[in-house]
Amino acid sequence: MSLSHGRSYLAIPGPSVIPDAVLRAMHRASPNIYEGELHDLTASLIPDLQMVARTTADVAIYIGNGHAAWEAALVNICAPGDLVLVCATGRFGHGWGEMAKGLGLDVEILEFGQQAPVDAARLEARLRADTDGRIKAVLACHVDTSTGVKSDVAAMRAALTASGHDALLMIDCIASLGCDDFRMDDWGVDVMVAACQKGLMTPAGISFVWFNARADARQPAQVSTYWNWRPRARPAQFYQYFCGTAPTHHLYGLRAALDLIKAEGLDAVFARHTVLARALWAAFEAWGAQGPLHLNVSDAAHRSHAVTSLCMAEGQADALRHWCEHTAGLTLGIGLGRQPESAYFRVGHMGHINAQMMMGALGTIQAGLMATGVAHGPGALDAAAAVIAAG
Ligand SMILES: *Cc1c(COP(=O)(O)O)cnc(C)c1O
Repeated sequence: MSLSHGRSYLAIPGPSVIPDAVLRAMHRASPNIYEGELHDLTASLIPDLQMVARTTADVAIYIGNGHAAWEAALVNICAPGDLVLVCATGRFGHGWGEMAKGLGLDVEILEFGQQAPVDAARLEARLRADTDGRIKAVLACHVDTSTGVKSDVAAMRAALTASGHDALLMIDCIASLGCDDFRMDDWGVDVMVAACQKGLMTPAGISFVWFNARADARQPAQVSTYWNWRPRARPAQFYQYFCGTAPTHHLYGLRAALDLIKAEGLDAVFARHTVLARALWAAFEAWGAQGPLHLNVSDAAHRSHAVTSLCMAEGQADALRHWCEHTAGLTLGIGLGRQPESAYFRVGHMGHINAQMMMGALGTIQAGLMATGVAHGPGALDAAAAVIAAG
């Protein structure tokens, strides 16, 4: 029997749940791209994109996914042969490094494993050893979505400062923006990348690069007209925002999503993600007290508030995901980048989610553990409810 008919919950770490207000805003005829409403709407996005990143830095919008923003950020600060240092806490850090390699950059990986954040002391030591200043940029994910590990970005800036190194600090906030507190200016981040389909609740298709004056001053002599962030951030004519036709419907959708964030308040958005994440962790801690289930990151301070990675025995995670999706309408994330992949799964809890969705997801996982015969401890739903009740 399937009990999955009804509204499903896509609890994967992006794309995230799309609010009805965003869908409605996109359900319209194409606007005139040469003048009028679309121009005003696009200009109105910029201060709000700065607000969610807590920055006064410039922002360039790209028609592309997060990978496009990775490439855009790199080509605007590095030329082939330049060295970048990647602080890797999971698959996505390595992915950004592979993209840099493909662009002809020299890439060095500082590996922190799959369960721990960036160790600022190790970063500082590596920077101090770079006596001839070869490292042009330090790259890291605020949250690596494959592991759910969150790193301390302010500590990375402190490592750069303490070492006296002038490399740029470039942070991937694709999984964390609008979910976990992030302060581009206070934390001394030079370049930040994000995409619209995670905490920004808009269908995949546009991405962003925020860059400060320090980063802009490092732009190589030659940058492709398409990827150059300058005309996009400071267009003399409207088409330069996108180097061609605007992603019209995405802009309407993003406008509606940013309005939701503003109406709730950014601090309230973070607080909601925090409580819902704690409820989820409380449930998994109770389940994990007996049986194979455990949270990938043991210290809650280093866990994302938007995506959580879980481990069981080989095959069990795939069976649970399959049951939850096909029998109950809850889609969980795969164990991306983990070995064996079938032992891992992830819960996306980013963006447009509330307490009843979280409790529904946890209740469904409880049923899925029973249905697939995975041993688990008692009291998980009570533990989650207690967190939510305490607010
Ligand atoms: C999702 C994600 C990416 C990749 O984004 P795409 O839109 O799939 O290209 C990169 N980094 C992080 C941290 C992500 O969460």
